Amino acid sequence: MSEERPLPLPDELTTPFWQATNEHRLAIQRCCKCRRWNHAPTLMCPSCGSTELEFEPVSGRATLYSWTVIHDPPAPGFVTMLPLIVGLVELEEQEKLVLACNLVGTDPELLRIGLPLEVAFADVASDITLPEFRPVRS
Ligand code: ZN
Repeated sequence: MSEERPLPLPDELTTPFWQATNEHRLAIQRCCKCRRWNHAPTLMCPSCGSTELEFEPVSGRATLYSWTVIHDPPAPGFVTMLPLIVGLVELEEQEKLVLACNLVGTDPELLRIGLPLEVAFADVASDITLPEFRPVRS
């Protein structure tokens, strides 16, 4: 399914994020002290410096912040996925809480900044599930 497609390598900081996506849930790191959300995960809260950080579930609702359309495969495993739309999506939980994800279920011509999106999950390997975003169907 995903031959020669590079996959994320969960590490100590990101494992809780990937464990959640494997269960088709989206969980984002949050500071226990100042309650700011933080992505990508870090050892220390960028806002207040606390090292008490936990992963909490988020709604999976977002709006489109920016995007790019890839026409040349970045690796052989992407050939069947072109054109690939990579978006920066802003989660509704916090301003500038942005994830980089594939955008699916849409044509590039239909995209606009602020477009309402919802998370979906793609099981790309036995132990890796990627969050993706697609336009909210009205
Ligand atoms: Zn904090």
